[in-house]
Amino acid sequence: MKPQGIAVLGATGSIGVNTLDVVARHPERYRVVALSGHHQVDRLFEQACRFSPLYVVVADAASANDLQGRLQEQGLATEVLHGAAALERVVSLPEVDVVMAAIVGAAGLPSAMAAARAGKKILLANKESLVVAGRLFVEAVRQHGATLLPVDSEHSAIFQSLPHDYAGNLEASGIRKIILTASGGPFRQHSAEALLQVTVEDACRHPNWVMGRKISVDSASLMNKGLEVIEAHWLFSAPPEQIDVVVHPQSVIHSMVQYRDGSVMAQLGSPDMRTPIACALAWPERIEAGVGSLDFFSMGNLSFEQPDLRRFPCLGLAFDSLRSGGDAPAVLNAANEVAVAAFLEGRLRFVDIAAVVEATLAGVSLSPSTSLAALLDKDGEARRFAVNKVGSC
Ligand code: NAD
Ligand code: MG
Repeated sequence: MKPQGIAVLGATGSIGVNTLDVVARHPERYRVVALSGHHQVDRLFEQACRFSPLYVVVADAASANDLQGRLQEQGLATEVLHGAAALERVVSLPEVDVVMAAIVGAAGLPSAMAAARAGKKILLANKESLVVAGRLFVEAVRQHGATLLPVDSEHSAIFQSLPHDYAGNLEASGIRKIILTASGGPFRQHSAEALLQVTVEDACRHPNWVMGRKISVDSASLMNKGLEVIEAHWLFSAPPEQIDVVVHPQSVIHSMVQYRDGSVMAQLGSPDMRTPIACALAWPERIEAGVGSLDFFSMGNLSFEQPDLRRFPCLGLAFDSLRSGGDAPAVLNAANEVAVAAFLEGRLRFVDIAAVVEATLAGVSLSPSTSLAALLDKDGEARRFAVNKVGSC
């Protein structure tokens, strides 16, 4: 069997590093063709030395020159490219069969879209792509014969719990509900008053998962679950009223599908992203991911709670934006990216993330039009509005 060529976008991040860990276990199956990282040149240098890709993509020309020189000294023929257009170019290469889309934020949309247009197998970690441009993205996948496989652990769980021939119709498959589980994040038991005091370090200390800083803050605010509701809507053609969120603090059940006859299918596993990454990489086969077996006897109880939308309004805002449709989810996402960046830089209180998102959704004119150009324009407008709002918080 000829190894499949893989491009790992966001290779230096949490998902990227876990992906390379799984890929390295299967050199006979996968050959790394391209890697990207934004500014983490040292980590990319180490990864390039280990995997000898044809291409590496960085943010700017200065980093590209620096890295190219260092790789040449090592005798590597890897070509270093820079900028967003280079990301679109590498995912479209004929040598690339599989694209891991693991850039964080709406910045990951153009390259994920290019992978769809090039008809590649896309392993999608970058949920923001579907939040911003879900309809266009799934249409591009369909039109160009691409394959879209979820990497987000909840969506991987749902994908695994659906019938194998699921064709995007809940009714026809006898499905009542898609049930997304949420850990509840580090502030699950905080009072509204306690939430006023939380710090960046508190927010980035997730109880069960080690992740990038943006998604860690999103998990703490439950915006991550909101983005995942929108992601599930597009991945599985599920209307918002058939998507439930259940808080399950142990993160053992990664999500569930409830059928008409009362059956509930769930996927369980340790909270280790290498499981959903390996599942997407090899589907429908199963490969070693370096993840141990679940130990049921040391696990203790599994518990379930309702999410509290008063303390965590971001989840409700995400549901509202999905019901509004059009460019509302793109506005939600843009405002959230601005607010989370401000929080991480110490310029905004944690509780004001939701306030900025809510004000932006109310302050920017929403429209049903969803061409890519219109969505990107609206993303820019929402970011400008949110930056002003952060300034006045
Ligand atoms: P991270 O912050 O650890 O890594 C982000 C990667 O994106 C890095 O390689 C960085 O260099 C690159 N990047 C950042 N800004 C960029 C830009 N403007 N242009 C190009 N590249 C850029 O993030 P992560 O935790 O690995 O998350 C990546 C994506 O996967 C996010 O969309 C996140 O929601 C999703 N996801 C992550 C996890 C997890 O466990 N970490 C789980 C599910 C989904
Ligand atoms: Mg998730």
